[in-house]
Amino acid sequence: MTTHTDAGFDAVATTAEAAADFLRDFATMSEFGATPNGGVDRQAASEADVAQRRWLAQLLESRGLRVEYDRIGNQFGLLELNPGAPYVIVGSHMDSQPTAGRFDGAYGVLAGAHAAFRLAEEWAADGIIPPCNVAVVNWFNEEGSRFAPSMMGSSVYTGALPLEQAFATTDRAGVSVAEALAPTGFLGHGDGPRAASCAEIHIEQGRLLENAGTTIGLVSASWAASKYVVTVEGAQAHSGATVMEDRQDALYGAALLVVFARELADRFPGVLHTAVGQLDVYPNSPVVVASEVKLLLDLRCADETILAEANALLRERFIEIERQARVGIRQSLSHAWGINPYQPEGVELARASAAKLGHAHGDILTVAGHDSINMKEIVPTVMLFVPSVDGISHNEGEYTRDDDLLAGLEVLTDVVRRLAHGELPATDGTVRR
Ligand SMILES: [Zn+2]
Repeated sequence: MTTHTDAGFDAVATTAEAAADFLRDFATMSEFGATPNGGVDRQAASEADVAQRRWLAQLLESRGLRVEYDRIGNQFGLLELNPGAPYVIVGSHMDSQPTAGRFDGAYGVLAGAHAAFRLAEEWAADGIIPPCNVAVVNWFNEEGSRFAPSMMGSSVYTGALPLEQAFATTDRAGVSVAEALAPTGFLGHGDGPRAASCAEIHIEQGRLLENAGTTIGLVSASWAASKYVVTVEGAQAHSGATVMEDRQDALYGAALLVVFARELADRFPGVLHTAVGQLDVYPNSPVVVASEVKLLLDLRCADETILAEANALLRERFIEIERQARVGIRQSLSHAWGINPYQPEGVELARASAAKLGHAHGDILTVAGHDSINMKEIVPTVMLFVPSVDGISHNEGEYTRDDDLLAGLEVLTDVVRRLAHGELPATDGTVRR
């Protein structure tokens, strides 16, 4: 099938050979850090992450792309056809949560790579030198499970996070990002390729697309979020002998907070998502009342007014819990952002691509954070979703059907083609930072 796009470029369906090629690479890629239940464990700069990055470098080089790393270890495969011109940055992340699914992030990097491979062949065959080059990207540490904060690589690239702060971040074993990256050979010197625009495709991680029978989600904005770092301070005591009214049980205080986070979400059904995703208990010992609990509490919301109300209720509850559990609570907002739109022109560009290729499509918001949320702050950025079966994500059972993976690749390829031809010019030229 060949259809004509508005810009005069052909949107071509993926050939059976290219589809098989992509699915074969996807299967190979999923072996890195594979878990017995069909998932992956590939936390940032872990052995599996490093091995997979080496594999990706080989794949990119075998198809004629030049592989480079920037100063925070973001991995780029450069298709430089127009020396000196800026790049369409296309990709996602290959690191994962512990016991995660094999689609989250990794699909977007491989789809970006295959889009670049196909465009390289197409442009070579047609003798075309596009106005922009293409860089496939594998952002470093998107998940933030080993090194918080998440979206670290894209945050440093876009200037939202100082390099020194990223380097100094340590994992639970006390290993810093700088120490973890140093032996890998992934630390470059520069700022990475200069961006003109960006495209990212990702699994939805929810079930809106599946419920609606939609194949391609056109992401128009991200949910607002408030992320708290909380320390509950009590006093260590004998868990049997200490009289109940004397206890200052930090774990009890933390538990009240965990329960309240859920109650808060239940108060605003469908609009507010909340969770405590990490809990560190000290001393975490069998016969000891905990003296300190550290936890991370996230609020994500589709409505900024409701988020403000939820934050106010949470702050009231902090004070009540201090009294109820006889503990102290220290808390700070580690991240806060509002409803954040993607450039509407990018949404329309992606809509045109999906429509021409005949894939069911519709607008959607992203609840989860993505590297493209950072990128859209500096250049025009297009974000696409494909369906997640049953909305399962951050779980080994994560699944997206082959047909949807291939449809997404097809639309992404057309989006990158259009971006490389300058269909979405930056309002301030093509210079970032
Ligand atoms: Zn992801």
